[in-house]
Amino acid sequence: MLRLAIQKSGRLSEDSLKLIRECGISFITSSLKLKTESTNFPLEILYLRDDDIPGYVADGVADIGIVGENVLVEEGKQELAIEPLGFSKCRLSLAVPKSAEYNSVDDLEGKNIATSYPNLLQSYLDERGVKANIHTISGSVEIAPSIGLADAICDIVSSGSTLISNGLREVERVFKSQAVLIAHKGLSEEKRAILDKLLFRIHAVQRAQR
Ligand code: ATP
Ligand code: ZN
Repeated sequence: MLRLAIQKSGRLSEDSLKLIRECGISFITSSLKLKTESTNFPLEILYLRDDDIPGYVADGVADIGIVGENVLVEEGKQELAIEPLGFSKCRLSLAVPKSAEYNSVDDLEGKNIATSYPNLLQSYLDERGVKANIHTISGSVEIAPSIGLADAICDIVSSGSTLISNGLREVERVFKSQAVLIAHKGLSEEKRAILDKLLFRIHAVQRAQR
């Protein structure tokens, strides 16, 4: 039996479940349950917070998982990635108040930037030789400039409408993300064989969608 960790509820959940179903794997979901077993494939599904998924897979508590690359790389666990999945596409961007003067990333020197992705932001700024003060907050990052907490933010963007409605302007793209399948490094031969079967089906689903 292979253990798959997916997000319990959020922007990855629906498409993660859809992919598994498209692979011909049946299971019964209930919003109350934290895990479920497939009725026709040796797979058990665990429902977790997305941030916890890379850690569980690294430790082998879950064998495989589906998570956004943004979270995976932020947590420094990119070596677990085995397959890009093509959904939950988004980007991590820097944004400033729409009236603020901004010409290049150098304008962020010495500024306060609020984000939930301090590591991704830090390496972006380091590569460009910019020193800024990064304030890590876990949610509602977009309101930080309007309440005087920060001069800029670095947050997930898909359409950009959230930025606009908070009076912000996207100025730099820091990281491009999509959902990825990740796997524990030390899978047993039996589990590896189940994973190979699953990957075979995922590839067939991906080919059919192209
Ligand atoms: P959890 O409660 O599990 O911690 P969360 O609030 O951290 O959830 P979500 O907002 O559901 O996370 O986003 C999960 C992932 O989906 C993100 O890490 C990112 O990879 C992707 N994502 C986020 N926002 C969008 C978006 N607007 N469009 C597409 N994908 C997105
Ligand atoms: Zn999360």
